[in-house]
Amino acid sequence: MALRLYNTLSGQVEEFAPLEGNRVRIYTCGPTVYDYGHIGNYRTFVFQDVLRRYLRYRGYEVVQVMNVTDVDDKTIRNAKAAGMPLRAYTDQFIQAFKIDRELLNLEPVEHFVRATDHIDDMVQMIQTLEAKGFAYRSEGSVYFRVRAFPDYGKLSKINLAGNRPGGSERVDADEYEKADARDFVLWKAAREGEDFWESPLGPGRPGWHIECSAMSMKYLGVPFDVHSGGTDLIFPHHENEIAQSEAATGKPFARFWLHAEHLIVNGQKMSKSLGNFYTLRDLIGRGYRPTAVRYLLASVPHRKPLNFTFEGLLQAQRSLERLRNFRSRLTMEIFPAGHNPVFETRASQARQALEDALDDNLNTAEALAALFDLVHDGNAAMDRGEFREGERAEVLDVLERWDRIFAMLDDADHAKLLRFGLAAPAGPQGAGEDGGGVLVAALSDEEIEQRIAARNSARARRDFARADQIREELARAGVILEDTKAGTRWKRK
Ligand code: AMP
Ligand code: ZN
Repeated sequence: MALRLYNTLSGQVEEFAPLEGNRVRIYTCGPTVYDYGHIGNYRTFVFQDVLRRYLRYRGYEVVQVMNVTDVDDKTIRNAKAAGMPLRAYTDQFIQAFKIDRELLNLEPVEHFVRATDHIDDMVQMIQTLEAKGFAYRSEGSVYFRVRAFPDYGKLSKINLAGNRPGGSERVDADEYEKADARDFVLWKAAREGEDFWESPLGPGRPGWHIECSAMSMKYLGVPFDVHSGGTDLIFPHHENEIAQSEAATGKPFARFWLHAEHLIVNGQKMSKSLGNFYTLRDLIGRGYRPTAVRYLLASVPHRKPLNFTFEGLLQAQRSLERLRNFRSRLTMEIFPAGHNPVFETRASQARQALEDALDDNLNTAEALAALFDLVHDGNAAMDRGEFREGERAEVLDVLERWDRIFAMLDDADHAKLLRFGLAAPAGPQGAGEDGGGVLVAALSDEEIEQRIAARNSARARRDFARADQIREELARAGVILEDTKAGTRWKRK
């Protein structure tokens, strides 16, 4: 059977084939390095890793680009607050990201590239857009003229009249001086005290969207096969990438658009701005293993939201142990010679079920179920003394095949944690729903007050569930509320 993938662009599941020969060219939007990545980010990166591993399993050659956004409002703001040069500030989080990638067994990508190393490519692309009439200058900045690109909206299916500015937290904060509200910035005029680059466009820095267009085209050419990120990137980021890229080249940009649904906590997207996130290090500090995190993140198919709980993580750790134990049994126990006729076709069935599941838009849950069926039957046969030497190699082969894609059977967690100086306390601790001592992002006073206002308006419309949820989120971020006659007061724990 052929691999079928859901393509956000067509809104359909389509049969996958590379555009050119046997080579699959993939662009994946990488992290914005103003802080540590959280495991919501890693849900998307683990999905992209399973994708590339499965493509390789199927015999394709993969060329993947992952960028690092190391210049934007947030990186500049945080570097300034830390009193560090932008490059040195972002370096630390790139380093941390590389360690997290290794801990999560994310296969190295072919091109891991930084935005600030590609400013010239971005400037050139903006010049092309200007020459073709798709861009205009205003007060030292350069904007993309959305009206000039009639296909705008084809990915997110937004209708132009009902444009959704603010539909994502990722809309550039500083958009002014535009001819049309939908226009977006390609080049931002330098501002007092902020990092900038000299260029024929004037001193400034690139907009976020142009970074990905310039870097994808440089390394992959157009059109390329797969572009991917979390669903929050569909609009405006990916929509804008399509507009710029297709306007500049006159060619289609990417063939398949794959988006991962979010990792959620209590019904809300895990995100830095909500303060409801865990970094991989937070979880390691609580005694969880990186491969258990990988297991949890990979266990739900990418088009389904994944609800994060500590119970789920503990369950993931146990399931992984079960797989590892089965493999040890299979390698170490002594079985009677010959074949068990009942078990003879069991391994090939499991292998077929595994591949069918992954062909079906990377249904990782089904792939896991197929493997656990085999483990269950294998363990039962061993317990009854009915497992035979003749089946050993074939069953092991299914496990190894599964692990070429899921990459977590080898237990190298502890050795890696030692190597990176991150060795954890023994065993999962506080493993209930939120066992205390949680590390969460500090919220600013303003952010806390915004949430209190949101809670007050939820109470005013008698949406008490929502109001309680906000109170809980604040509590997790270490903020305690007290409702008094004079209004809601708050303090930090
Ligand atoms: P960022 O570092 O915010 O630029 O995000 C890096 C990647 O993580 C992007 O593909 C986002 O779409 C993705 N992402 C952010 N939050 C989540 C989440 N809660 N669940 C899944 N993916 C996410
Ligand atoms: Zn991007």
